[in-house]
Amino acid sequence: HVKHGGKNSYEMFAHSMNIVSKRRLQIEAHLRHAIDNKELYLVYQPQISLHSGKIIGVEALLRWDSPLLGAVSPVEFIPVAEETGLITPIGEWVLFEACQQAQVWRDEALPPVRMAVNLSVRQFARQNLESVVQSTLLKTGLPVRYLELEITENMLMDDVEGSVDTLHRLKDLGVCLAIDDFGTGYSSLSYLKRFPIDRLKIDRSFITHVTTNTEDASVTQAIIAVAHSLGLSVTAEGVESADQLAFLNENKCEEVQGYYFSKPVSANDIKRLLIVNQGLPDS
Ligand code: C2E
Ligand code: MG
Ligand code: MG
Ligand code: MG
Repeated sequence: HVKHGGKNSYEMFAHSMNIVSKRRLQIEAHLRHAIDNKELYLVYQPQISLHSGKIIGVEALLRWDSPLLGAVSPVEFIPVAEETGLITPIGEWVLFEACQQAQVWRDEALPPVRMAVNLSVRQFARQNLESVVQSTLLKTGLPVRYLELEITENMLMDDVEGSVDTLHRLKDLGVCLAIDDFGTGYSSLSYLKRFPIDRLKIDRSFITHVTTNTEDASVTQAIIAVAHSLGLSVTAEGVESADQLAFLNENKCEEVQGYYFSKPVSANDIKRLLIVNQGLPDS
């Protein structure tokens, strides 16, 4: 509600716009040097197979600790990076860093896991995406089957023909492809079958109340059914409780990811988790 008296609402609006754009400009200015200053790093969140109970993959998630702005969430700085084009070097850095880390774990003879990397809108739209992916795999030595790329629904629907083409070029390399935040966008099922993808990731917003809200439960079941009928596997995001896990297990979801198992953690913590993982019964 608008508070009357003192400043008029235009002044208040202008004032708050000013704060928003100042923050945006600060982020842009500092983000420009974040790679060189080594302010960016990755954390990794385990993805657990419900079939084996083991960690089967990790998702790389970007973090930025700015000496001037403090910790800035990717939810805030990724859009700025998108608008300014800074996402190109940042995205390439993320891809390299994630593949290199996955290869380090392989060199350490840890149980093999997939490395999932989020792609941004601009990265996905670039003509040379598959050559960037290919050269990153060559440079790091990571076999292609360990790399999964996450693309959001809306990125695919912006230009369906172009997306089908890009996905095929990536698929030809042998990478795994996942649709992230599935259910929140506007993809049509008739297009879904045209995309050469491997997995749907059910958005956290459906999982949060999946055991208490019948609509969320129905949507989740419907997504799993559609995925399976198209030969895709399903990962549920944002699993925070044993009840949610039981629901997903009952409904034949393949994989889960969420705070119930682990928050995103450092590479070292993943290493510890993978060592324990080895002790679990074989699948
Ligand atoms: P996303 O790819 O859907 O990643 C999942 C987000 O949910 C992550 O937030 C993760 O920390 C959070 N999460 C996971 N499990 C739970 C849970 O059980 N409960 C709750 N409340 N949250 C959970 P994060 O790390 O803040 O990342 C947010 C978004 O920023 C990502 O959503 C992704 O869209 C984007 N992002 C992060 N890293 C990158 C990156 O390297 N490149 C690009 N292009 N985008 C990135
Ligand atoms: Mg993701
Ligand atoms: Mg997601
Ligand atoms: Mg998300």
